[in-house]
Amino acid sequence: MSTFQELGLNDDLLRAITDLGFTKPSEVQEKAIPILLESETDLVALAQTGTGKTAAFGFPMLEKIDVDSRTTQGLILSPTRELCLQITNEMKQYGKYCKGLNVVAIYGGSSITDQAREVKRGAQIIVATPGRMKDMISRRLVDISKIQYSVLDEADEMLNMGFKEDITDILSHTPDDKNTWLFSATMPREVATIAKKFMHNPQEITVGNKNESTNQVSHEYYLVNARDRYQALKRLSDANPDIFSVVFCRTKRDTQKVAEQLIEDGYSAGALHGDLSQNQRDLVMTSFRKKQIQTLVATDVAARGIDVDNITHVINYQLPDEPEIYTHRSGRTGRAGKTGISMVIVSKSEVRKIKSIERIIKKQFEKKDIPDGADICEVQLMSLANKIHNTEVNHEIDKHLSSINELFEDTDKDELIKKFFSVEFTRFYNYYNKSKNLNVAEGSFDRDGGREGGRDFGGSKNSTRYFINVGGKDGFDWMKLKDFLKEQLNLGRDDVFKVETKDSFSFFNTENELKEKVLAHFTDFKHEGRFVNVEVSENRGGGGRRDRRSGGKRDGKSGGRRSDRKGGSGNRSDRRRSEGNSSSSRRSENKSSDFGSSRPRRSRR
Ligand code: ADP
Ligand code: MG
Repeated sequence: MSTFQELGLNDDLLRAITDLGFTKPSEVQEKAIPILLESETDLVALAQTGTGKTAAFGFPMLEKIDVDSRTTQGLILSPTRELCLQITNEMKQYGKYCKGLNVVAIYGGSSITDQAREVKRGAQIIVATPGRMKDMISRRLVDISKIQYSVLDEADEMLNMGFKEDITDILSHTPDDKNTWLFSATMPREVATIAKKFMHNPQEITVGNKNESTNQVSHEYYLVNARDRYQALKRLSDANPDIFSVVFCRTKRDTQKVAEQLIEDGYSAGALHGDLSQNQRDLVMTSFRKKQIQTLVATDVAARGIDVDNITHVINYQLPDEPEIYTHRSGRTGRAGKTGISMVIVSKSEVRKIKSIERIIKKQFEKKDIPDGADICEVQLMSLANKIHNTEVNHEIDKHLSSINELFEDTDKDELIKKFFSVEFTRFYNYYNKSKNLNVAEGSFDRDGGREGGRDFGGSKNSTRYFINVGGKDGFDWMKLKDFLKEQLNLGRDDVFKVETKDSFSFFNTENELKEKVLAHFTDFKHEGRFVNVEVSENRGGGGRRDRRSGGKRDGKSGGRRSDRKGGSGNRSDRRRSEGNSSSSRRSENKSSDFGSSRPRRSRR
């Protein structure tokens, strides 16, 4: 085992090393530093997180650059803003006795002009995230044409995050004869390709096993009807009480809607997408990092910068358009030596995409079933039991113990436990009791879109489905309509359910007991100057099944009203479109959104 002196570092660096309290080099430092000091070479170094890679490239870079020159000589690319700041900070500490040294961090989400000013003062070393770097290059705010040393730190992470093109672009602005040092925890094919493309006969060092962490993520898929996606998401979350997850949606709108719906349903969730301001995104990310948010719903673009460790699950609410993007998504979990699960909720029309993803990731998916209500109840119950078991006793209770004991004098231990657990558990039980099976057999014929009963938790026979002649055209999405109905009828949070809006009409359910009230309220009812008509639909279950009211009757009744005048025939064709069997539900699955396409975006709370 050598010392830092023996590795050949100069006195300024050795002094800083002593200040930092580093007594001996780590393995990657011991292997990399002599190579980088002694020769002008490219290098590929594979080492896990926390092995001291920053100093492994940082010391040699500091030793080699000319601090008397103001030219930018070293460029370090790293995947996230946090890492970028961390590396900058380390480099400043390592180089604190190198007089004249200026290390500048360049990263998104902070003033580009300030950063440009810092660079202009003369930065020998720039530490940057790829996105912002590319931006600064295209605005000619940096000059990296005289770079001698470039570092790709956490190269696998950068590629996971989709920075391949940015990196390629950035390196094309650097001289061919520079040295490139690539540091990575793993060596997937993409990293090898980068190494081949940008490096000349790189020396290679490995600390620990190659590709050690690539097996940390397992891949699962769940086959459901497209319209059950959201229910499936909820169950996957409920079946994993300690889940800390990123849910990926394809569009900003779906991202916002899924997040809002989760919040409404009592989950700690947040949305991350490009329609939010940087400030809003920062807030969401801070809460997520602090685990105040358990589920982050994100678009691919917005999730690029997510660098949170300990994410237990990545859930693909919808598959990405490009199978390659799947790699970036699943790479959000299984970081830093932890294991992770990447789940995909697929409908039948998408199952074949699983195969193409398997080819790309060179791993097999496991087909799993969405847990049923009983499974979830059991998991929740046991999780609660564990939580109680591990809870530290609050001794403030002691002084009340005698009165509590008095109350439970005649209650035996089992009874007491049952009562105690019921406080929390009954909520779950009521929700999942008699819940339907969401799984679709592969290859089975999706005859009725999977909607057998009405409400999928408890009492399908007990609810009434209604038709209402307002919809997306009138500015209603399902949430607005639900709010509207609740307000009109003075009902509680869960009294109106299965709200489904089409373009010019909608459906919703209530319990049977409310039928008279609903129909009475909407008799000769006018809203904003137009008649709003509610009728009982024979389509109990909702969602795409034939609505057997006579079309003529309704047309006759409502003839001449605005909605019908606007689209008498449009109405009918809309309805036909909704008379879903397998073909129409499949058609709707191909749309970018599972919520239908006509609804306006709901404003954020
Ligand atoms: P990596 O980039 O491999 O994840 P870092 O370079 O961030 O690892 O180093 C991890 C931590 O170890 C940092 O806090 C760093 O200051 C510390 N460290 C690095 N080298 C040494 C050393 N030789 N002795 C003691 N601590 C070290
Ligand atoms: Mg590092």
